[in-house]
Parts: sequence; structure tokens; C-alpha cells
Amino acid sequence: MAYDINQLWEQDKAHFVHPFTDFSVFQKEGCDLITDSDGIYVQDAKGNRFIDGIAGLWCVNIGHGRAEIGQVMAEQAQKMAYYSPFNNLSNIPATQLAAKLAELAPDNLNHVFYSCGGSVANDTTIRIIHYYFNQLGKKDKKQIISRRNGYHGTTYVSATLTGIESNNWGFDTAHQFIHHVEEANCYRRPQGMSEADYCDYLVADFESAIQRLGGEEKVAAFIAEPIMGAGGVLVAPEGYHKRMYEVCKRYGMLYISDEVVTAFGRLGHFFASEAVFGIKPDIINCAKGLTSGYIPLGATLLSDEIYAVISKPQCADGVFSTGFTYSGHPVACAVALKNIEIMEREQLCEHVREVGPYLEQQLKTLQDLQIVGDVRGSHFMMGIESVANKETRELLPMEANVGRRIAKECQKRGLIVRPIAHLNVLSPPLIWTHETVDQVVGILRQSILSTIESLITDGYLKS
Ligand code: PLP
Repeated sequence: MAYDINQLWEQDKAHFVHPFTDFSVFQKEGCDLITDSDGIYVQDAKGNRFIDGIAGLWCVNIGHGRAEIGQVMAEQAQKMAYYSPFNNLSNIPATQLAAKLAELAPDNLNHVFYSCGGSVANDTTIRIIHYYFNQLGKKDKKQIISRRNGYHGTTYVSATLTGIESNNWGFDTAHQFIHHVEEANCYRRPQGMSEADYCDYLVADFESAIQRLGGEEKVAAFIAEPIMGAGGVLVAPEGYHKRMYEVCKRYGMLYISDEVVTAFGRLGHFFASEAVFGIKPDIINCAKGLTSGYIPLGATLLSDEIYAVISKPQCADGVFSTGFTYSGHPVACAVALKNIEIMEREQLCEHVREVGPYLEQQLKTLQDLQIVGDVRGSHFMMGIESVANKETRELLPMEANVGRRIAKECQKRGLIVRPIAHLNVLSPPLIWTHETVDQVVGILRQSILSTIESLITDGYLKS
């Protein structure tokens, strides 16, 4: 289709309110229009082609441009694009997907509540938990514990669950029932403390927070990402999730695993909570990779125990009054089913378990570079942290914009990586091969070397 790029840029600037955008830069520079995508590549309006190092936004797990997905969308849209899911109405893809998710998830998570994305899934989860404890007659058990630097979305409640301080600058929050404990940051743990002692410390800190908030009577749930994503790609110490889960159970609390990023193959399994971290949460939330980003869909997987309580009528004629016009949208659910079919047919989880360790190992070779302080993550969820001084782990000044500098250098060389402050994130489509990894690590090395030169030139770093 022919289009006028300059006109589109102007229209975008004038009318599209972009999420997570620094408008002062945006007003000056406008946007990059991404116009085409195929496999591991995306292309912009000027015809530049890039390796997609971030799967859109941790989501295009099966890769771009899958004709099968387009076909299933068209077929479902023509057959029956939409009808209400309320009361006793249902549709075939939503029903089949719920059964499939129950089959893939840990064994007692057999009930699916649909939403349109991760934020809404998390928001609704808190609403459901409050309803659950009301049903049990525990009307004071409403406090929720999340973690600093955790990312859980930006609807009102999920934004408060999010513990990244800058995310809520200028916004109000729902802190009357949401609290944060320290995140697990092994790289920045107190100096000289072993990982095992650090784990003990975090678990003790969590337990004292529960007690401070009123213990079993008052505290309802804990929410955590298996690996913290946007908050820094932070892998917790060995055994951390199991121990946090055990504390939850001691206080009659529910454990919510936010698998919006980690589910659907990123760590080599459909769900990571049990397969990687050995826990069976009471609730798992997923979105993103559920449809590989081809269409919005979120899902909250609830345990048999929770369903048994929330499915009882609260009073005569009482209904479970929560849900959305688009809960279980037939087209979105048909896409999710096809996405899962492709993942199973192409054995993408197995592929990630094979290529993931190679990606980790090759990225770690970058640690010989002057500013690469830490390379961390797991499988297809990795982060590179830049520092001014590797001994002291001191950061470069914020205004040096090291993450953005590296991302720009990568872009010049045909690779998109995501800058988050002093971090660069890689969360690629799951179809990267060993050869892609080699190419990407080569580009990263050259890009970081150029960044070091520019930081020295600009006086942010000594040679
Ligand atoms: N939870 C996690 C762990 C996420 O990483 C995200 C988004 O990045 C969300 C929730 C919010 O999902 P959405 O942007 O689909 O609302």
C-alpha cells in the first residue's frame, strides 16, 4: 500500500498519545514507523531491516508474519467474530482454549478467567481475591504484598502493584491495600553476603512485612514474576520462590505468579512456575505470548480451591459480577489455540531449552568489555547491565543514557534491543537459532565498544 511517510509522522505526532513516552523527545523527533515484519525481522518505513531482539515487547514468541495465524483470524471472524460471554453464553474457541490452558498449567489450575492483557489480568485478580475472602467471611483479609521494581501493568490497581517508582510519578495509587517488599537483586545484594544468606534475608523481610500488616487476619496475597522483567531482568536466589510460597501458605495467603512474560516458552516451558521454580501458585496470570502478540488476550488461571469458593452464589440470585465485553473473545482465543498448536508442532519450548543456554553463554562473553557489569537472566529473557566501575558496581550518571546509547548503536547495525535506564534487554522471538545468537552477540560487542568510545568522548567514562 502506498503511503506518505511525512504525512503519517505528522498525524502520529498530532493524534496518537503514545504509552510510556517522553513527549519532549517525541515532539522533536517523532516516531519510528514499523511497517513490515517477517520471522525474526521487522522493517521500518524507510526500508531499514532489523533483527527483532525483543519480540515486539516480550510477546511475539512464534515470530512475525505467520500466515496460519492470519488465516485462523479471518476464518473465525467470518464464522462468528463476536458474541456475549455473559451468563450461560459461550463460544467454541474460548471453551477449547480454557481446557487447553488447564491441561498445560500446573495440575490444580483448571479454571480460566479471560481479559484483554496483562494489566487487566492482574487488576481483576486482586478483585477476585477480595471477593474470594469476602465469600469466606474474611472481610479484613485484603492486604496485598508485591515487590519493589516488580512490573504488573498500568491500570489503577496493577499500576500500584508495580513497584517501579518512576512508573507512578505524577499518578495516584491504591496504596491503602497494596504494599511492597524488597525485590531479589543478586547483583546488588549487600556486599559480602552469600546468595543463600541473601535469600534468608529476603524471606525474613517478607515475613516481617506480613506481621507488620496484621498477619494471617489481614494479608491476602503475594504477587511476583518468576523472573522480574521490566524491573531489571532479575533472577532470584536459588529456592527463593519456594520459600516465599511456603511463607504464604503459613499465613493462609494466596500466591499469584505473574507469568505475563515468562509463560509460553520464554524460559523453555509453557509455564515456568512449577517447571522451573517448583511451585504450584494459586493463580497464574498470562497474556503476551498466549497469542504471540498477534491479538490482545489475557488469562487468569485459578485453582480448584478458589473456583469452588467464587462459583458459589453469594446470596439468592447473586452473580459473579465481574468481566468484560471481550472476555473470551472468539477471534483472540482462536489465535491462542493456533499459537499453542504451532508451539507444540515446532517444539519451541524444547528449542528454547536448547538455544537458551547458548544465548546465555555467548552474552556472558561480553563481560570482558569495560562497562558490562552483569549479564543475567535465563533462556530467552536476558539483560545486560552497564556500569561505570565493575569493581564498585557504580552506575554511570542517568544523563549519560547508556542503555539508549547502546540501543541506538545496535539499531545502526540492524538489531533492536530494549533500553531500560542502564540496562539493555533481550527477549527475542523463540525461533532464534545458534546462528542468530552469533550474529546478535557480534553486533552487541561492536555497539558496546562504540558506546564506550562515545562515553569517553563525552566525559562520562575514563579510558
Ligand atoms: N505483568 C508483567 C510481568 C509484564 O511484563 C507486563 C507488561 O510488560 C504486564 C503485566 C502488563 O501487561 P499489559 O501491558 O498487557 O497490560
